[in-house]
Amino acid sequence: KNLSFSYPDGTLALQDISFNLARGQHLVLIGPSGAGKTTLVNLLLRYWEYQHGHIYLDGQELRTFRGEELRSKIAVVGQDAYIFNTSLRENLSIARPSANQEQIEAAARLAHIHDFITGLTEGYDTWAGESGLHLSGGQRQRIAIARALLKDTPILILDEPVANLDPEMEQAILQSIHACAQDRMLLTITHRPAALQLADQVIILSGGRVVGS
Ligand code: ADP
Repeated sequence: KNLSFSYPDGTLALQDISFNLARGQHLVLIGPSGAGKTTLVNLLLRYWEYQHGHIYLDGQELRTFRGEELRSKIAVVGQDAYIFNTSLRENLSIARPSANQEQIEAAARLAHIHDFITGLTEGYDTWAGESGLHLSGGQRQRIAIARALLKDTPILILDEPVANLDPEMEQAILQSIHACAQDRMLLTITHRPAALQLADQVIILSGGRVVGS
């Protein structure tokens, strides 16, 4: 609500932003580079403190949440997927160590990475990361998506999640994320119009302001 934010160097990154995202809703935030999209996500995660306005999560002001509590409610798939130096299974379950094989595979299927993994000689036990399997940008991104789905948080944020994927894969993955996000708040940040087809709500951001919806 009426959210404004300036960086410490004085750059006014967001001005008077208001929107509402309900559970089960898919909001797509679109806008050119420098529009303030990533800044908005960083405010949601409380990496920065906003100076004016409010963010409410389930009716509670965001500032009253502890960082850890907040991060357990939000999964973010960013543009750069970090691959840990461990097995693919652990790479997927890292945010939810209690996940069983069935749950891991279900998430991998939704992210369209399961078939690739089972095609490897060692399957889910294959070592990834610096000293292991070399994954392409698109494969890394699909692992990051599966990881986030497995974390099973009420809020899922996809920040340019398909930047490294071809358009067909992009559509397939966005569709499966959309299908399994029925009781979640789903926020997709993109500059690609393809994502708009699946949105319940679209916000166009430019120069730190909402210029259309
Ligand atoms: P987008 O994600 O839409 O490309 P950003 O949120 O990254 O846009 O950036 C919004 C504005 O804030 C831009 O003018 C950018 O230069 C500025 N900005 C981003 N990060 C910082 C920072 N750490 N310090 C100062 N200004 C920043």
